[in-house]
Amino acid sequence: MKVVLKNLTKIFPGRTKKSEQVVAVDNLDLELPDGKLVGLLGPSGCGKSTALYMICGLETPTSGEIYFGEENVTKLPAEERGVGLVFQNYALYPHMSVRQNIMFPLGNLKGSARLSKQEMERRVEEAASLVQIDSLLDRKPSELSGGQQQRVAIARALVKMPRVLLLDEPLSNLDARLRLKTREEIKRIQNETGITTVFVTHDQEEAMSISDVIIVMKQGVVQQVEKPQAVYDDPVNLFVAKFLGTPAINVFKGRVLDERLFIGEQDVMSAEGYRDGDVIIGIRPEGFTVREDGPFSCEFVRLDVMGRDVSIISKCPECEEETLRAIVSSDDVKGLGLKSVAFELKPSKVLLFDPVTEKRLRPA
Ligand code: ADP
Ligand code: MG
Repeated sequence: MKVVLKNLTKIFPGRTKKSEQVVAVDNLDLELPDGKLVGLLGPSGCGKSTALYMICGLETPTSGEIYFGEENVTKLPAEERGVGLVFQNYALYPHMSVRQNIMFPLGNLKGSARLSKQEMERRVEEAASLVQIDSLLDRKPSELSGGQQQRVAIARALVKMPRVLLLDEPLSNLDARLRLKTREEIKRIQNETGITTVFVTHDQEEAMSISDVIIVMKQGVVQQVEKPQAVYDDPVNLFVAKFLGTPAINVFKGRVLDERLFIGEQDVMSAEGYRDGDVIIGIRPEGFTVREDGPFSCEFVRLDVMGRDVSIISKCPECEEETLRAIVSSDDVKGLGLKSVAFELKPSKVLLFDPVTEKRLRPA
């Protein structure tokens, strides 16, 4: 089921006369492709949950429309939309067994949607088996680990066979290892069921690893919608470039002059096709190669060896941060000097932005 959002906006009124209204979601215009896992990514407070709750019917849009396939569901009550929702805090009923928790939404079905006891049992076992908690059905939530509780919550969302599955930061309460494992599981479950899924997260790495398509949001406004690799390689603005990637992109003040790119007085590479003027330069950590006579020379600070990676930490006055980080191969650092380090830059890893609008600049 594809989901289409047309000019969807949510404005929360100010609580008092003096306090300002909040535009939580601003004119969202999107198509979520059928059967895919869409990652909705952005910093805390950017409107992710509000967007999700409008899709599922828990929040009423201020304006705009929501379609499931060809059906306009904007005014349809939540329980008639056929959505499954999983929250960050699993919100299981503590006095009920796992089986009863998963079955609960089925007991609420009315009229022609009502199911026989047998069919309910069958659906619960199917959902439990999909999230691999078949053996835990008779336990109480308090007898489960966090990861198992979250699986129960996912099973409960799946048991109604939803048309759309909505996950709001479902892994935030899990420890790091479990988070990795559970996100693999969610990916598998989504693949097996083929349910159109929206996965909300503020964690760019999580979004990158799990999503077929990423939507990056900032202050209620969609910045970019693309496959994870494309958002990383080809960000539309400085915000997206900075938000994706760990370690983060290195940012410098620079300028273009006669189709050459300058950082301070250093002519660091060609800028063919770019207009003269001040620019913001973003260089991914993997965009540096150590070369003795490289054109970009920085003050050497230290080496960080982290598993496979070697990071060269260095300084230059035009860098936005105190230091910059270059990730290089361990062979590269053997001949490193003590005071300074010179780099050559990989053109595909160097991105230019307008210093005023912070939009991506592209060669003519
Ligand atoms: P996210 O899920 O990305 O962290 P939210 O969608 O929860 O962001 O919130 C977006 C913005 O809307 C925030 O500024 C938040 O304070 C505001 N907001 C959310 N819910 C309400 C509400 N019920 N009343 C007023 N403001 C709200
Ligand atoms: Mg939220």
